[in-house]
Amino acid sequence: MPAAKKSTKPAKKATPKTAGKRTRGKTSAKASAGPAAQRAAKKAVSPKRNPQKPVRQLKNGSRQAVAPKQATGNGAGTAPKRIAALLDRLQKAYPNAECALWHRTPWELLVATILSAQCTDARVNMVTPKLFEAFPTPKAFADATPAAIEEHVKSTGFYRNKAKSIHGAAKRVVEVYGGKLPETMDELLTLPGAARKTANVVLGVAFKKAEGVVVDTHVLRISQRLGLTESSDPKKVEQDLMRILPRDRWIQFSHEIIQHGRQVCVARKPKCESCTLENLCHAKDKTWSSV
Ligand code: SF4
Repeated sequence: MPAAKKSTKPAKKATPKTAGKRTRGKTSAKASAGPAAQRAAKKAVSPKRNPQKPVRQLKNGSRQAVAPKQATGNGAGTAPKRIAALLDRLQKAYPNAECALWHRTPWELLVATILSAQCTDARVNMVTPKLFEAFPTPKAFADATPAAIEEHVKSTGFYRNKAKSIHGAAKRVVEVYGGKLPETMDELLTLPGAARKTANVVLGVAFKKAEGVVVDTHVLRISQRLGLTESSDPKKVEQDLMRILPRDRWIQFSHEIIQHGRQVCVARKPKCESCTLENLCHAKDKTWSSV
């Protein structure tokens, strides 16, 4: 195949006339700006570079980036007015919310709470009546072997650790506290198997003492969804809740949120269309939204 003939014509130079044509339609400022300045100006307003950033069209035809709309007022944040609205609606929706763990004494509540880790309250309630029949007092638990306790709590999962914790807690209650469960946070935290969540349950439910806020999986998830905390560390979540909730609501708030988490604000596909908190909630994973 013959080689293609090379053009001998000189390349067409841009005349002032054609150069003018290229800039037609652009603002005179842009036309006069250098290429670097033009690139910088384009970067600042281009919706392509940041599709999340809304852009508004100005009268002169150029575009300007605007700040995204923020949820304000009662809609988001930890403003006292919004917190009061959340608490009010929760109270109305769950007026009888209470601890679902079956128990007759503070000690039994401690045992049931230890057993409820990674297990449903319903399952724990199936186990505890027979467990407390076999070991009716802290002394009876202390005198038993962990293996004997294991036999009764197998179905709650992690039963070896749980039996060991219950046995250790019983021994300490008998040896240090004369067989009576202590009533302070510091003392409860010295019992094997009792972290802040367990201690808060016992203090709030059995002794009616608001020393902290129970943060279980429901409270953690829903506090995040409602924007009450940004943390996923239960200790930090509890501190955030203690800071923004009035103390006289610390105990009941957890009961209400736990019920809300079981019935409506479930982990997967929360039922937002039937949620009493819906227009106060801006969770990213809402399944339906009116706001
Ligand atoms: S609106 Fe949806 S995500 Fe928000 S609290 Fe209600 S159920 Fe949960």
